[in-house]
Amino acid sequence: MRILYTASEVTPFAKTGGLADVAGALPAALARLGHEVKVVMPRYAAVNEKRWGLQSRGDSTVRLAGKEYPFTLWAAPLPETPARRGGQVEVLFLSHEGLFGRPELYQEKGKDYPDNLERFAAFSRAVLEIPKRLNWSPDVLHGNDWQTALVFVYRRVFFPADPLYRKTGMLFTIHNLGYPGLFPGSEFPRLGLPSKYFSPDALEFYGKLNLLKAGLMFAGVLNTVSPTYSREIQTPEFGQGLEGVLQARRTDLFGIINGVDYRQWDPAHDPSISQAYDARNLKGKWVCKEALQKECHLPVKDVPLIGMITRLTAQKGMDLVIEVLDELMRLNLQLVILGTGDPAVHQALKQATHRYPEKLSVHLAFDESLSHRIEAGSDLFLMPSRYEPCGLNQLYSLRYGAIPVVRKTGGLADTVVDATPSNLADGMATGFVFEQASSHELLTTIQLALKLFREKDLWYRMMRTGMTADFSWDRSAQEYEKLYRLAVEKATKPDKASLA
Ligand code: ADP
Repeated sequence: MRILYTASEVTPFAKTGGLADVAGALPAALARLGHEVKVVMPRYAAVNEKRWGLQSRGDSTVRLAGKEYPFTLWAAPLPETPARRGGQVEVLFLSHEGLFGRPELYQEKGKDYPDNLERFAAFSRAVLEIPKRLNWSPDVLHGNDWQTALVFVYRRVFFPADPLYRKTGMLFTIHNLGYPGLFPGSEFPRLGLPSKYFSPDALEFYGKLNLLKAGLMFAGVLNTVSPTYSREIQTPEFGQGLEGVLQARRTDLFGIINGVDYRQWDPAHDPSISQAYDARNLKGKWVCKEALQKECHLPVKDVPLIGMITRLTAQKGMDLVIEVLDELMRLNLQLVILGTGDPAVHQALKQATHRYPEKLSVHLAFDESLSHRIEAGSDLFLMPSRYEPCGLNQLYSLRYGAIPVVRKTGGLADTVVDATPSNLADGMATGFVFEQASSHELLTTIQLALKLFREKDLWYRMMRTGMTADFSWDRSAQEYEKLYRLAVEKATKPDKASLA
């Protein structure tokens, strides 16, 4: 199949979170299955021409809401996708200096760029010109999150009978419903859409504009990044007000767990860590732990070390950690936190480091290399999320032998096997799972984990079970393949949900 995959961030070119990891790895896995994949993303200022060997593919101008947007198209191969055997993925960058030539992706100093609506509307509109330019008709158009959701409505409005898209299946993936792309209703005219699209069965959402809805309403097939999250979002607790829309589309809504790019995330060959190790030879893990303790100015000793790498937000349960931090610090442990986010959380953590210099090390930064060293040096990895569409760090932690302590939600519930007595006895356990988003449960679960830490046989067995679990992309890519086929099938049937 020819797959046009679009996302606002793609590893290794630009990343703020898990979406980038997915967008950098799934296309490569699809190419390995024999598909022809092109990835389209904006060209941010950080995407350097020389570093990535970008080649210009000419200019084109799109018109939207009475404005003209001249874009330059650039292309580069996705790294580590070998051209031989047809496995190469081409990444296409849409460059527009005024819209995307900025240091960050969506915001600076915690403030969203005020023209995000215009930026991603123009981008989404321009994505649809690419097949025309390249004379390449995609079998599938795959969009991700609110930034690229508009492609589905623009396809309908601007290319209603274009032969290029007549048989194109449409898949929209929700990576996080908590970021719906909400804008004031008064900005609707900027989208260049007929006024009927500002209605509850299109983009309107309680008087506002909800860009995610463009995907939810107009893509043929929908999915989220874990089966549990796909069910959770159909309930008021997790649905962010969109549960009704999602229930109405439940027969088209699926859940596929994200994979891990083990080329990047495997302690057996990770250039960022002090010494390689694997499930059969854990010696390197202790070297990495000692190195991490040194790097974090913590005493080098055999005490359970807990790692966290996260956006510092309420979604990730950071408020629970802050609530219980003083009690945690009374336990025999060390805690290393890497993250950025909510300024109040920054403040609270900074203050706590002064109180607990021997036990707590906080890094308020986005540091990919350090994130690998934390995975390698930690005994436990904490993810107390209130909700978690999939979560990648628990999957990385499993491979790095950093036993995850997670809340039972979304992808965390689907990927971590709780250390219950029977799971421990069967050798199935890979982590510690707690039910409620409460600081009390968080604390008691960590206490339980610390108790087990002393039972070395059980502990190593758990580590090895996690380290040998396989969450590679190849399996997930096959699931996506099925959804693509379904989307194509739907595209070739008469469209029932037509607004026209
Ligand atoms: P989300 O996309 O909701 O932030 P995920 O667990 O799906 O959460 O993915 C987060 C990704 O971003 C992981 O690869 C994680 O290692 C990375 N990450 C998050 N915060 C940081 C940080 N401060 N420094 C380096 N990497 C980070």
